[in-house]
Amino acid sequence: MIFLDNASTTSLCDKARDALIYHLDHTNGNPSSLHNYGNEAKRVIEDSRMKIAGLLDCSAKEIYFTSGATESINTVLKNFWHAYPKAARRILTSTAEHSATTETCKFLKSNGIEVINISPSENGRYSDEKLREALGSKPGLVSLMHVNNETGAITEPRKISEMIKSICPRAKLHIDAAQSFGKFGLSPYKDGIDYLSASAHKLHGPKGVGLLFARRNALLIPLLHGGGQESKLRSGTENTAGIAAFAEASDEAWNWMINGDLSHIKILRTAFLKELSASHSNYLVNSPDDGSDYILNISFIGIRPEVLLRCLDSEGIYVSTSSACSSRNRKPSRVLKAMGFDDERASSAIRISFSRYNTIDEVTIAAKAFVKAVSFL
Ligand code: PLP
Repeated sequence: MIFLDNASTTSLCDKARDALIYHLDHTNGNPSSLHNYGNEAKRVIEDSRMKIAGLLDCSAKEIYFTSGATESINTVLKNFWHAYPKAARRILTSTAEHSATTETCKFLKSNGIEVINISPSENGRYSDEKLREALGSKPGLVSLMHVNNETGAITEPRKISEMIKSICPRAKLHIDAAQSFGKFGLSPYKDGIDYLSASAHKLHGPKGVGLLFARRNALLIPLLHGGGQESKLRSGTENTAGIAAFAEASDEAWNWMINGDLSHIKILRTAFLKELSASHSNYLVNSPDDGSDYILNISFIGIRPEVLLRCLDSEGIYVSTSSACSSRNRKPSRVLKAMGFDDERASSAIRISFSRYNTIDEVTIAAKAFVKAVSFL
């Protein structure tokens, strides 16, 4: 199997797998129980929180464990609905966000919240002019992705937070970091981020666990009520083994960011594109040149992506059409349309996404399989 769909999910790294198995076996008490077995589980969760807080350079009290980025995003956006004064109930977001944001915003809009959408340019970025104009409407919350899950386009949180400071200083900034956490250095305080959402399974951790960073003085109202876990923000018995594995996966990812060969991902992407360009395939690269090297979005004009996907599938090569969540939906990619691409290009897109565990051999084999499949179709 050659797995090049790492933006949808990733394989478990060894340290995460070891932690998951160990804690399922050894610290399976309820962290709310008062006996030692429960206390041990609680200790594992708090150690994990401290580990992740250390990586983000924030306080452990500012990290809340959730079931994943979708839940974290819902918590921030819906929290804003209840907790903010009426006058500030205006959200600025974009037409290129993940459905976790766009669908929540749709729901909020139908409940009277004003939602302002900006659209990216063809390079996936938001022009300063558009941003300034949108911020001028004085939103209470700005919610944008750091790395776009379909194209890899990057929005620099620090730049946005500086613009917020000068135009609408009361607005809070939420960053959906599902595709960047553990891949790009992020520091909520240095980058001016008030809320940040991430999922463990995007960085070689397990599914069903994620985090919400929220500054200590942030307004927060729970989405889930019950036993009052996670400082009363997120009730429900904690996923101890998943949380421990998340911390290990994060540690491993940061370690790689610091000590690993960061050019590896660029080398994979370049090798893939070199192989394609040697063929006479009719393709267009939709990802911006200055985006994340982890995500490569390409349109093979005139070829139905799901047919191409099936050909590759039969060779054990796994890629995705647009994003995994919307890949069963055959409409043109909403994100590519927002960037200004026409219907044909936006409906023939394939996403190839790399991980630090992919090899040059793998991407070369995959690119050759693309060329072969495209020449048949
Ligand atoms: N945000 C982005 C940018 C994503 O890519 C994803 C998942 O693909 C999510 C949010 C939702 O993450 P999860 O499904 O882990 O909750």
